[in-house]
Amino acid sequence: MKILIIDADSILLNKRFNYGDIVPRLQIGYVLSLLEMNNLDYYFLDCRFIDEIENSLSFYKSADIIVIFFNTYDYKFAFKLANYFKDKIVVGIGPHASALPLTIIYEDSPFDYALRGECEYDLIKLIKNLGNKDELDKIESLYYSEKKNSKISLIKDIDNLPYPKYHSFNGRYYDILPVPFFKKANWGFVNASRGCPNLCTYCSPMNRVSYGYNYRIRSAKSVVDEIEYLISLGKNVIEIVDDNFTVSKKFVTEVCDEIMKRELKIKWVAQAKIDTLDKDIMLKMKTAGCFCIRTGVETGSNKIVEEVKKYKGDWKELVEETFKYAKQIGIIVDAYIILGLPNETENDREETLEMLKKSKPDFVQVHYFQPYPGSLLYDNAEKEDFNEYLYHYNCSLKEFRTVKNKIYKIVYFNPKAIIKHLSLFSGFYIRNPKIFSRLVNFLIN
Ligand code: SF4
Repeated sequence: MKILIIDADSILLNKRFNYGDIVPRLQIGYVLSLLEMNNLDYYFLDCRFIDEIENSLSFYKSADIIVIFFNTYDYKFAFKLANYFKDKIVVGIGPHASALPLTIIYEDSPFDYALRGECEYDLIKLIKNLGNKDELDKIESLYYSEKKNSKISLIKDIDNLPYPKYHSFNGRYYDILPVPFFKKANWGFVNASRGCPNLCTYCSPMNRVSYGYNYRIRSAKSVVDEIEYLISLGKNVIEIVDDNFTVSKKFVTEVCDEIMKRELKIKWVAQAKIDTLDKDIMLKMKTAGCFCIRTGVETGSNKIVEEVKKYKGDWKELVEETFKYAKQIGIIVDAYIILGLPNETENDREETLEMLKKSKPDFVQVHYFQPYPGSLLYDNAEKEDFNEYLYHYNCSLKEFRTVKNKIYKIVYFNPKAIIKHLSLFSGFYIRNPKIFSRLVNFLIN
C-alpha cells in the first residue's frame, strides 16, 4: 500500500508568490515521520514547488491513499487534485478540512474522509483501520459519510512527536528573510509550542501553524535537542514557527537558558505577540541568538485593535516602545499589517501609516483581511463564494494597493532605510545572491 501526501498549495501555479517566505509545513513533516516509523510507504508532493500539475500527478498513479492538505483559498485546486484520484481513497486534512468538513464530504464528492485538527496520529489510525468501521468510529477527529460527529484533535503531549522529516522537504525552503551574517543561509524550522490562548477575532485557530486555543509547550530540553539536531544537519538559522512563541515567559527563558548553557552559536527568529514582550525577555532572547522578532502589528488604530480583541489600551505607544527597544539591543523587527479589517476607515489606515513612520520596522508584510473559516469574524462575514478570494471590508483592491505602496515607501523605499538595510545585509546578499536577485525582481515589479 502506497500513500501520497500532497501539500495542495497552488502558490506558484497561481502566481501568488513574488518574494517572501515559503516555510516547510511541519505538520506534514510530522506525518511523514510517523508514516516512516509505522513502516508505511509514501510519496510526498509539494505543489508549492511545481509550476505544472498534470505531468507531476501521473507519476503518482500507483498510490492507493491520497492525503491532501489544503487551505480554503485552494479549495478548487484541492478538488482538482481529488478528482484526479477519485478512484482512490482520498483524505482531506489541514485548515479547510478542519473548519468545514461538510464542504468536502458529501454525496459524489471525490473526498472520502476528512481529519480535523492536529491529525498526525489520527491519520496513521485511519490508514491502519480502513474498512474497520468500529475502529474508525473511535477516531474523534474523523468525519465521513457514516460518522459526522467529529471534533478538532489537539495533541496533548507534543514532546512525544518525532522530529519532522527534513529531507523530504528537499532543502528548498530558504528563500526567506535576510540574516545579518556573512554566510550562506541554511534554514531549519522548529515547532516549540502549539495553540494560542488569545482570541483575536480575525485569526482562525484552524489556519495557523498549530490548532486551537489550548496552548501547549514542549520541554525546553526537547526543543533545544531538536535545534542541535538541525545544526548537525548543517542548518545555521532556525525559525521557530510557533504562532506565538512568547506566550509563556518562563518557557522562553528556559529555552534561551538551554541554548546558552549548550553554547549553541545559532541565529534564530520567532513570532511573538507584542504585549507578551518586555525588555527582560527581549534581552534574554537576543543573548540566546534571536536576531529577529516577527509580530502581528495589524493596525495603528487603537480603536480597531480593540475591536478585533487583540489589545485594549494604547497599542500605538506599545508598538513604538517595543520596536525602539528591539532596535536598541539589535533585534530586527518584521511587522505584519492587515488592511481591510471590519470598520476600518481611511482615518484608521492613516493612523497605521503614522505609526509605521514612527516605529520603523525593518521588514513589513502587508496582508488583505480575509475572514478565514474557523475565525470569529468568519461567522459574521457576508459569505461570498469561499472558493474564490475571501471577502474584505471597506477597502477596495485599488485602495489596498495604494496604502500598501505607501507602507513600502515608509519601510523600504527611502534613503535611510536603504542604507540601513545594506549595512545590515550586504554580507548576506553577497553569500546568497539568488535571494538578492529575487528581491530586486520583486522591487522592480
Ligand atoms: S493573531 Fe496571534 S495572538 Fe492573536 S490569536 Fe492569532 S496567533 Fe494568537
